[in-house]
Amino acid sequence: MPLLRETLDALLALQQIDTQLQRTRKTQAGLDTGADAKTKAAAARAHAQTLSQDYHKTAADLKDTELKLSTLENKLKTNHQRMYQGTITNAKELANLEKEIDSLGRQRSDLDGRILELMDEVESKKTASALADAEAAQAEGHHQSTVAQYHARFESLAGDLTTLTAQRTEAANQVEDKAMLKRYDDIRARAAGVGIARVVDRTCGGCHMQLGSQAINMALGGDELAICENCGRLLTK
Ligand SMILES: [Zn+2]
Repeated sequence: MPLLRETLDALLALQQIDTQLQRTRKTQAGLDTGADAKTKAAAARAHAQTLSQDYHKTAADLKDTELKLSTLENKLKTNHQRMYQGTITNAKELANLEKEIDSLGRQRSDLDGRILELMDEVESKKTASALADAEAAQAEGHHQSTVAQYHARFESLAGDLTTLTAQRTEAANQVEDKAMLKRYDDIRARAAGVGIARVVDRTCGGCHMQLGSQAINMALGGDELAICENCGRLLTK
């Protein structure tokens, strides 16, 4: 049977590896998978598409309005020709033609104003659309690089875990007292992964509660097994 001191030393070495394993697993589980960046990129792309559709719609409106103006100008030209050719002699017919020319003139003025407005709108919407497009591309790039970083970091930590797991097996083999090893593992299972703790400034290194003199002396001596009364962890020097 090995000395209790040797068993405690071997368990403490095992605990250090178990703590590293626990931290590494936690780090790996907490890595940024890029899910948030993905959501943001999708929202930015949707926004860019909305602005692009809006821009194209306004550009189409402008084309339509320019076409209307062109049609109207042709009509005006024809009416002017009829007016000044002198072929219409009927007074009422002439009056009607004059009215129509006036009406077409007002419509042309309205269309001119509308075209100027639309040209401004098309310009500003084109700029906004291009900006949103660039922002979406940037967000997509950020998502891709986040995912790439995640995979690289995950693989690196997986490598660390493989190494630590092998070290753990080796360290567990070093604990000859298998009953104590099982006891350590049982405590770890219910005490946040820590089965053995050092006495630190007269407190338990596991739960940080003050220890009695007897427990301290036993832990430092190593001839008798000391247990923290508060957390139930094994104690050692
Ligand atoms: Zn304790």
